[in-house]
Amino acid sequence: MPHQDHDARVGSFLSQFGQTSETTEFFSPHPEGYVPGRTSYVAVLGTVMSGLGKGIFSSSLAKLLKDKGLAVAPVKLEGYLNVDSGTLNPYRHGEVFVLDDGTECDMDLGTYERMLDQNLSVQNFTTAGQIYTEVLDRERRGGYLGRDVQMIPHVTGEVKRRLRQLAMTGGPDGGPADLVFIEVGGTVGDYENGFYIEALRELAFEEGQGRACFVALTYVLDPPTLGEQKSKAAQLGIKRLMESGIQPHIIACRAERPVEETVREKVSMFSNVPLQRVISMHDRDSIYTIPEAMRAQGLDREILTILNCHSRVNTVHEDTHRGNWKSFAEKLTGPRQHDVNIGILGKYTALRDAYASIDKAIEHASTHLSIKPNLQWIDTTEISDPGKELSELNLHAVIVPGGFGERGVDGKIHGVQWVRENKIPFLGICLGFQMAVIEYARHVAGFTEANSTEFLADAAQPVISELPDQKLIEDLGGTMRLGGQDVAITPGSLASFLYDESTSVRERFRHRFEVDPSFIEKLEQAGLIFSGRHPEQPIMQFLELPRSVHPYFVAAQYHPELTSRPLTPQPMFMGLLAAAILRSNPSLTREDVSTRWIPEPSANTAVPPTQSSSATPSPCG
Ligand code: GLN
Repeated sequence: MPHQDHDARVGSFLSQFGQTSETTEFFSPHPEGYVPGRTSYVAVLGTVMSGLGKGIFSSSLAKLLKDKGLAVAPVKLEGYLNVDSGTLNPYRHGEVFVLDDGTECDMDLGTYERMLDQNLSVQNFTTAGQIYTEVLDRERRGGYLGRDVQMIPHVTGEVKRRLRQLAMTGGPDGGPADLVFIEVGGTVGDYENGFYIEALRELAFEEGQGRACFVALTYVLDPPTLGEQKSKAAQLGIKRLMESGIQPHIIACRAERPVEETVREKVSMFSNVPLQRVISMHDRDSIYTIPEAMRAQGLDREILTILNCHSRVNTVHEDTHRGNWKSFAEKLTGPRQHDVNIGILGKYTALRDAYASIDKAIEHASTHLSIKPNLQWIDTTEISDPGKELSELNLHAVIVPGGFGERGVDGKIHGVQWVRENKIPFLGICLGFQMAVIEYARHVAGFTEANSTEFLADAAQPVISELPDQKLIEDLGGTMRLGGQDVAITPGSLASFLYDESTSVRERFRHRFEVDPSFIEKLEQAGLIFSGRHPEQPIMQFLELPRSVHPYFVAAQYHPELTSRPLTPQPMFMGLLAAAILRSNPSLTREDVSTRWIPEPSANTAVPPTQSSSATPSPCG
């Protein structure tokens, strides 16, 4: 590279960070336009052990402060080297959550979106893989002025740059945030996250007094053989954090039972944290009561004091949002009217986290419909006689969730056939949608060889085949049709009823295969209704059966579970569970249930006009 060119590129890189000297040992990049002091930072770090619900804790705390009218921007800092979560096995890591912008991320981001009722994006999710890739790419571009590139200051510098960038654009509508909420994955002492912790120490120092609040989440042991709580592990964990140069401001003690005062005193004394800032975060019936429990212990007040933010609180905003949340939490923990059995036919049923968002979407919808859901996780790889085995379960609704690969597929197809023939309310999601298409093609439309090219590359009747764009991509990482897309809804359909007569809705996708356009017309002639489509291309996104044929049979190529929120449950789940109430108690009528989610018997039977299938497949949008 010519010398001058190199200097110009390096110069522009550094000036972006407000840094001009080649010799400085500081590497504290401020993105252009960053206003120091405008945003404060709250960092939540785990000690003693993982699995304490750090994500739930952090998101509850962020919610508590958001309800006060503060603009919060959460970020999860993952220690692993994967660039995103797209290639992670749900068995090991739980489900892959998909954001509206197509980011495939950790399921904790789903917890943040649901708790905060806020759409997040790629800037709210960072992995060590992203950080290192960025630093190494920059090094190759000559961005470090011939310096040796080091963990400190360059890798930590990249972490700080991202956090400051988030401070500038992570608030509502891409504006600044009042608070950046940082959750560091893993626990203090892990190799993977050491550079994040060092970056946070540097950030707090550079931003100055009262701009960063460190919250240590720890664990108080309660061995049954002793019958008393012990604080030693918690003390050691916090000491480890202090060895990194970070003095926590607040310590939250996870425990099974409320943490005794004497134990809190010990933790306080060994960690230089005043007693009122050592709080008990013991187990509760519902995660939705955590924000109130934090408030009751004064956690919000302490954080506002530490960060000097009391003047930014909007009490009217707080009262409204707190009230809405409280009434949801009361419904959630209160008595329920209807017992409903819901079968979930998947292959990762041994690990509930693999279907965390479906679990949550059911929780939201059943709370609003006063249903006590009894979930039956059915492993389709183990079903040999679906008709018999499913009949025995007395199911009132069935969900076939998303998935990849051939394993368990036969059980799903037979399961769909059984729900269709027995008129059990049904919701198919992504792969579940494709299963419904294959089942209908084989058993109703006469395509006995119908299959997906995902399972049989040279299928004779490939009713499901690869999206044209996806065929061009060979890698496994990040190669799917991902994220929020518009779905055009056919007026007069059940889909239209569920979405409140909207003609266009936005939902999130994660798939590589679709209904092959050459089969659309034939499937529709056989009675299947595609009532949600890509606005321009022949990509089928929602299917249903007429209500004269089946009380509730719907499926989506997208993932409706990803957009369900506690106060605004997702319509397809509301429709499913409302139909399940009637199934669970045949003596009930639509009027008895009194919900807007059951259509009148005569409604929504219209078959929408067939879209010409002569359209050749075009690249998806
Ligand atoms: N395996 C299917 C596809 O790639 C379905 C994906 C899913 O269920 N998320 O299209």
